[in-house]
Amino acid sequence: MAAPRAGLGAGAGAAAGVPGRQGSSGVEVVFPSEPAPPAPLCPHGPTLLFVKVNQGKEETRRFYACSACRDRKDCNFFQWEDEKLSGARLAAREAHNRKCQPPLSRTQCAERYLKFIELPLSQRKFCQRCQQLLLPDDWEKHHEHRVVGDISITQLRRPSQLLYPLENKKTNAQYLFADRSCQFLVDLLPTLGFTRVLCVGTPRLHELIRLKASDDKKSNIKSLLLDIDFRYSQFYMEDSFCHYNMFNHHFFDGKAALEVCRTFLQEDKGEGVIMVTDPPFGGLVEPLAVTFKKLIAMWKEGQSEGSSHKELPIFWIFPYFFESRIRQFFPSFCMLDYQRFHRTFICVDEAMKYGCMLEVDYDNHALYKHGKTGRKQSPVRIFTNIPPNKIILPSEEGYRFCPLCQRYISLENQHCEHCNSCTSKDGRKWNHCFFCKKCVKPSWIHCSICGHCALPDHSCGGPKDGCFICGELDHKRSTCPKITTSKKVNRAVRKQKQRKSNKMKMGITKGQSMNHTSVTRKKNRRERAHQYLCS
Ligand code: SAH
Ligand code: ZN
Ligand code: ZN
Ligand code: ZN
Ligand code: ZN
Repeated sequence: MAAPRAGLGAGAGAAAGVPGRQGSSGVEVVFPSEPAPPAPLCPHGPTLLFVKVNQGKEETRRFYACSACRDRKDCNFFQWEDEKLSGARLAAREAHNRKCQPPLSRTQCAERYLKFIELPLSQRKFCQRCQQLLLPDDWEKHHEHRVVGDISITQLRRPSQLLYPLENKKTNAQYLFADRSCQFLVDLLPTLGFTRVLCVGTPRLHELIRLKASDDKKSNIKSLLLDIDFRYSQFYMEDSFCHYNMFNHHFFDGKAALEVCRTFLQEDKGEGVIMVTDPPFGGLVEPLAVTFKKLIAMWKEGQSEGSSHKELPIFWIFPYFFESRIRQFFPSFCMLDYQRFHRTFICVDEAMKYGCMLEVDYDNHALYKHGKTGRKQSPVRIFTNIPPNKIILPSEEGYRFCPLCQRYISLENQHCEHCNSCTSKDGRKWNHCFFCKKCVKPSWIHCSICGHCALPDHSCGGPKDGCFICGELDHKRSTCPKITTSKKVNRAVRKQKQRKSNKMKMGITKGQSMNHTSVTRKKNRRERAHQYLCS
């Protein structure tokens, strides 16, 4: 029997940005009620507990798998919840986990960086193959690799241009913002009064904030990057980068790194800080929400008495079709209508030829100019707990204020008097359906067979995006009113355990490297376009 694959479940949505479930089965994360036994560890920290869901029925045998990697090629950790491992297996696993950690400690990286910037320009080299800054002692080892020289301070300040974006779509999809999209945030944050930004999975934002701070003496805005991409540790000191997994709140460098984050959040009694995060879309929303709540709690500990009602300001950048999912966990969040988060488009062929990244703004790229659907907007939005009337969207791009909704809205978004809100989510004008009693996409029509609006060529009664347990459309399995209590599930697991003898031999196998080393030559070097625009 093949072990179920963790990661992409009903709540997750596909990597390509399809909301909800496609077929009729999937895998979902379970957060067992306390006290739960500690989750086993993979190279990416504590694993998550998953359950396979099939045709509305929950399989009772649950399993642990990697929180960060949705592809078994990146981390093949697998363990049934009720599986007992021998001492030898546990020891082998520990050894494997250790072997997968980065070769250098965070402190060693910082020391190397200090040495590197002391070198004269002609000796500052970067190995493209190994994605590594080289010190003179390293040259020999890399002499057959493609090495670029004369790495300037300007280049060092823009690591996201020097490093290849990791292209493994499932695990570590790095969708970097085009500078222009990022600049919108860089300008917005100080206007809103923020002086510190906790960047969770936003390396380019982090670097642009720091660039601005160093160019413009008036701007003293600080930034701390938390990211799973270990390559960034070569470019930052310990107080501005932590190697971090946002799906399980794991700091790879232990307590020291956790303290860096805590100090950053709690500085000035927590005043002036905002968290900005742009997680991989394929990621599960619930583990992210659990993590963000832990970061919020860390910030709260540093609050002075009497400000307990305050919330940590957050920008969560995510596709609009996750709105209801995000609001399940953060009811105070609202979705802004800003629609111009464009990603960089990187021509790897040319990058190889010229030894640097050539980035093309989507707006300037003929092929991607309007996406397949002829729409220019990206599906990515900002979800935030900051009152939306404070966030002024640029009028030169057509945004205007809706006094009824008290927020800025895009050009074609129109206030629907029946819904009493500006209802468009995707930049097109939506139409009100009197049967459904809500506004729907312009491409949808009301189907009397299905009893709701859908695309004209939908198959009536076909698979729906609803709950795995009862099939209703307005919630997912995890919030289903008919959900079995975790006690019942546990009892069933125990029963099943008695019935089936343990035939599973899944576990760790050898030879997997961590994703920070997964920049390989095998990659196809075609132009890589992130086609999520076309949803
Ligand atoms: N738009 C952002 C980049 C977002 S891409 C910018 O331009 O700054 C998603 C980022 O999340 C990448 O940097 C990736 O390395 C990071 N990431 C992916 N999985 C992660 C995980 N499990 N924990 C922490 N960071 C992760
Ligand atoms: Zn893992
Ligand atoms: Zn090399
Ligand atoms: Zn309406
Ligand atoms: Zn129908």
